[in-house]
Amino acid sequence: MKTIDQISFSGKKALIRVDFNVPLDENFKITDDNRMTAALPTIEKILRDGGAVILMSHLGRPKDGPTDKYSLKHLVPHLSDLLKQEVEFANDCIGEEAVNKAKELEGGEVLLLENLRFYKEEEKGDKAFAEKLSKLGDVYVNDAFGTAHRAHASTAVIAQFFPDAKYFGYLMAAELQNAEKVLNGSAKPLTAIMGGSKVSDKIQLIDALLDKVDNLIIGGGMAYTFAKADGGNIGTSLVEMDKLDLALSIRQKAKDKGVNLLLPLDNVIADAFANNAKTGVAKTGEIPDNWMGLDIGPETVKVFSEAVAESKTILWNGPMGVFEMDTFMVGTKAIADAVAEATEKGAFSLIGGGDSAAAVAKFGMTDEVSYVSTGGGALLEYMEGKELPGVKAINE
Ligand code: AMP
Repeated sequence: MKTIDQISFSGKKALIRVDFNVPLDENFKITDDNRMTAALPTIEKILRDGGAVILMSHLGRPKDGPTDKYSLKHLVPHLSDLLKQEVEFANDCIGEEAVNKAKELEGGEVLLLENLRFYKEEEKGDKAFAEKLSKLGDVYVNDAFGTAHRAHASTAVIAQFFPDAKYFGYLMAAELQNAEKVLNGSAKPLTAIMGGSKVSDKIQLIDALLDKVDNLIIGGGMAYTFAKADGGNIGTSLVEMDKLDLALSIRQKAKDKGVNLLLPLDNVIADAFANNAKTGVAKTGEIPDNWMGLDIGPETVKVFSEAVAESKTILWNGPMGVFEMDTFMVGTKAIADAVAEATEKGAFSLIGGGDSAAAVAKFGMTDEVSYVSTGGGALLEYMEGKELPGVKAINE
């Protein structure tokens, strides 16, 4: 793997694609800086080498060119604090100002460019735009795992202008190595815990995992499509009626492959989708009319936790219930506890990005698992066996 450890950046200008797509409140305060802190090791190594750092990122989804709300200038004060040094800002990611500021940048200095997505060319993967960006640095580093599944100008197309000077940053390398650890050569038993709302979002991943895992645990809203397919009563629970056959075929495939498929045995049910709803517990397939399943039940927690406890490798993607509401977070918290316990006993646990990462963060347990991925969609696609354009561009 071509990582930044393979060169010294002394006297070089590193153009780094980072994923600084952080959430901002109405006063432009960053509410979660994980994506920024995740890129610090790469930036700091290059600065330590004596290199100059030029950072480029997108922020949000601007539709019509430059928009103050999506300006990366709002990140400058916090980035300066994190790096303990002043960060320069260019009001455009290409053009005269960016070129001049990049040219004047000296070793040890940092320049942040304005939002790449102020240009439509970025998401279109426009070659001429990528070439303009490429003029700003003499080494290209990709550390934006969150956008590695996109063939955008700054994430993939640009790499061709650095045939002998393109590298993965530390975050990218760690993400890829940890995903590989689960996919290939993982210690057994390997358990995948899948949850979240829809089976349709995760079907490709489930399909790919059935070739690899010993245990497949399915919870969350997607489990009701399985219960419905089995002919059970699911009340008003979430269901994808057009995916019933799919649920049955997953069941069959698991059987054929000798995978231990674990589905909820019981459920926490509610008479409304609300934290203060009336609640109860119902066996799977026996949810009364007008009630909905919003979490896994106590019996299920026990069975799922036992399977997790015996695992040596764990991949977790998707919550077991509506964890955002305290009334329905018990199942997700219990599984997080089981994952943490297994990790303490030596298992390797990888938490897929998005909602599972949010759940683990909500419980303050980020340090109790082996690795929390920063990439939602990118990790899913990598795990599905797809070649990520951002990864391919560096490797080829
Ligand atoms: P996803 O984005 O597909 O990973 O789904 C995550 C979302 O699924 C979270 O916002 C959860 O609140 C939601 N979810 C989990 N379990 C259920 C359930 N039983 N009913 C409805 N939504 C659920």
